Amino acid sequence: MLPFSRVAVIGLGLIGSSIARAIRENMPTVRVTGHDADADVRARSVALGFCHDVADTAGASVTDADLVILCVPVGAMGAVAAEIAGDLSPEAVISDVGSSKASVAAALGTSLPGVTIVPAHPVAGTENSGPEAGFASLFNGRWCIITPIEASTDAAVERLAIFWERLGAKVDRMDPRHHDLVLAVTSHLPHLIAYTIVGTASDLEGVTRSEVIKYSAGGFRDFTRIAASDPTMWRDVFLANKDAVLEMLQRFSEDLTALQRAIRWGDGDTLFELFTRTRAIRRSIIEEGQDDERPDFGRAH
Ligand code: NAP
Repeated sequence: MLPFSRVAVIGLGLIGSSIARAIRENMPTVRVTGHDADADVRARSVALGFCHDVADTAGASVTDADLVILCVPVGAMGAVAAEIAGDLSPEAVISDVGSSKASVAAALGTSLPGVTIVPAHPVAGTENSGPEAGFASLFNGRWCIITPIEASTDAAVERLAIFWERLGAKVDRMDPRHHDLVLAVTSHLPHLIAYTIVGTASDLEGVTRSEVIKYSAGGFRDFTRIAASDPTMWRDVFLANKDAVLEMLQRFSEDLTALQRAIRWGDGDTLFELFTRTRAIRRSIIEEGQDDERPDFGRAH
């Protein structure tokens, strides 16, 4: 039994187009209608053919949908929800894929009173954006965190969980605030650090830009991949998950100061003990199948 039969995907970038492609591949009888605010993205999506049809307005894309998934930057979720409010079928379940959950859930609740809402976050992505960047296997073996709220019914949560499992994901459930704290440390803070390091390196006066690029294999290169992520998406994530990010940033600054002290006083034991613990975390991530154990992350050169 399929959990939904007509899905509307709003926002046809990396995540939205991957969902559409994954539905077509894994649930071929489900009808997929897409919409994007950008006319050029709509035209490219029609050409790529991952939706059955692409509507010119958000409202037109949702009229007969039993599942609507908002795949726009988190700062735009509330406005898009308000745009479709008058066109939803009474049976429709509304979900989203936003990288932060508490503020998005609140925005959706305000824009869609009385509607069944089940916020979710597939923890899968790349540094690329746009409809060409998506692919059907993006969610295979990755976690999708469903964060039920008051406007979620048990039945809708269950149907959305089955939907994500059909797309290849493993599903977890979490309180939205707890989700934001966990993702602040596993995703948002690492992005902030990458943006900072790449920014600092490009601003250095004593080291030329060409030297930074030439010697980038020394760890810097992996930061540049993260720091190439979409500016709109990440601006919105930091503004939307402000409290959790600031809390984790405070902890991080304290730990960084401790390392600074260890280096200053030649305290090799502290450095060695930390690096041993962090190596074990890397091993656990590989054992859980969340990354590639081949050297250099399996990159072909
Ligand atoms: P993306 O590739 O930039 O796609 C977002 C699309 O939404 C763009 O085509 C954008 O058009 C469109 N859009 C913006 N405002 C809109 C509006 N008001 N109405 C309709 N369409 C609108 O971004 P993405 O990576 O797919 O991210 C989408 C969502 O997924 C975000 O909430 C993000 O937090 C979440 N997410 C991302 C990742 C990741 O790794 N990228 C992972 C998990 C979850 P314009 O480009 O013209 O603005």
